[in-house]
Amino acid sequence: MVRRNPMDQPPLLFVNCHVLTMDPTNPRAEAILTDGEMIAAVGSRADVENAAWGARVVDLHEQTVVPGFNDSHMHILSAGLEMESLVLRPEQVTTIADIERLVSQRAEQTAVDAWITGSRYDHNRLRERRHPTREELDHASGGRPVVLWHTSGHVLVANSKALQLAGITAVTEAPAGGEIERDAHGEPTGLLKESPAMDLVGDLIPPPTVGQGTEAILRAMAMMVQQGVTSASDAATPRDDNLDDELTMYRRALDSGRLLGRITLMPQIGFVAPPASNQTRRPDEFDAGNRPDWLRIGATKIFADGALSTGTAAVRRPYAGTDDHGIFIWDRDTLHSMVGRAHRAGWQVATHALGDAAIELILDAYQAALAVDPRPDHRHRIEHCMLADEGLVRRIKDLGVVPDLQPDISQLGDSYITALCMERASEVIPMALFRQHNVRVAFSSDRPVIPGDPLECVLDAMARRTPQGIELGPQHRVSPLEAIRNYTAGGAYAGRMDDRLGTITPGRLADLAVLSQDPTVTDPDEFSEVEVTMTVLGGRIVYGE
Ligand SMILES: [Zn+2]
Repeated sequence: MVRRNPMDQPPLLFVNCHVLTMDPTNPRAEAILTDGEMIAAVGSRADVENAAWGARVVDLHEQTVVPGFNDSHMHILSAGLEMESLVLRPEQVTTIADIERLVSQRAEQTAVDAWITGSRYDHNRLRERRHPTREELDHASGGRPVVLWHTSGHVLVANSKALQLAGITAVTEAPAGGEIERDAHGEPTGLLKESPAMDLVGDLIPPPTVGQGTEAILRAMAMMVQQGVTSASDAATPRDDNLDDELTMYRRALDSGRLLGRITLMPQIGFVAPPASNQTRRPDEFDAGNRPDWLRIGATKIFADGALSTGTAAVRRPYAGTDDHGIFIWDRDTLHSMVGRAHRAGWQVATHALGDAAIELILDAYQAALAVDPRPDHRHRIEHCMLADEGLVRRIKDLGVVPDLQPDISQLGDSYITALCMERASEVIPMALFRQHNVRVAFSSDRPVIPGDPLECVLDAMARRTPQGIELGPQHRVSPLEAIRNYTAGGAYAGRMDDRLGTITPGRLADLAVLSQDPTVTDPDEFSEVEVTMTVLGGRIVYGE
């Protein structure tokens, strides 16, 4: 547990280890000394030992130390809440009978009138290659309402009780933009498509109380610290529309004394520089408590397009076999107005843009804002930034924009091939271009959209192999050292915390992850065996001892 008073933390001397500092001035070392929350010395064993009088010696038995991972784009509250619901990923379920069994087990522990929720099933990866039916879920749930979200987030299946509570019957008309799937007799099958229809059921599920949300945040951070993650950014705060409650949850998590990681919140643009308004709030108008090393306000978040896997990212050339170019969330004028006002108010701006058309649009908006109000080192970001050609990468470099990337080809790679065909899909996450043009990038997880263990992300970036085993764009592979640097120093840079963390450097916070093997010399075929065996957070061993 994180104690409040750093004075009671004895100095720690880590020895017998290979230190990958990610600090270019001193890339490798043999020993680390902490002092309170901070790193006091890094270097050869002899040098560091000389400074370490009275320290507790931690023998790492030839393991490797890297900076604590910084997950610069994930969804903390959602990840914690999802841990309480049924997780139905391909790793957990391969048939509809598996789903029925998990629902039925959960029903036994759930009050008769309470909801059973689950997510992340993928009908394409179930043996039956179809969605569960409402009758199958009725059978498993003992009369409780059930709703299961598809992994795309664009479809859900509800059982009969949930449909009944939502008032959805054979005669219900689908709301505009949504679909209620029906059987041959006109009865709803339980499948609801797109938000307008999905919300008919989803809106009935009680939102978490402040207490439940606080616990979910603590749970998510406690899970991640076991994977070596010591700092994380919530890439869209709030997840629903209740900013005040959500800020309270995060402050209570901070005040609980049980928070196992540093948190940066990224307020949604609607709360910062809303569309069709002149109102703008400054970063200091958001209450994140008074311990900024542990909880702070970061960039403001804008969504510019959808996702490649669902054909909604905005692309210049149409999706394979269609004349569809995806969607823009905002028209050009609205986007320019929001970006311009947030920029002027001092915000770092982070915009979700996957397709090349969306990336171009947001670069135009950043460039226009900077032309009016030049600001050195603004570090405006593009989240995901998946389809960028050389021209766009040049503009990213020239404007000083930071791509925040989620290597997820091992999860979603096949869907990129379906959406774009092989040639264009091979160019997603174009690391070779970023490297060639010297663009600093961050790696992160987008958890809980994908599972999100940092070492799995590193392996993904190294291998670029789809679930079906296709090597997608091997020219964009990265070395393990580069991948870890992007997930540590890169994340700290993207989050504007590089003066506090992200490298193993004297004077920075002592956030460390110990790896069972040196990833820079591990055979790629054996990389999946590398494990986090210890995590140090603010000079305390919080996992692995
Ligand atoms: Zn996200």
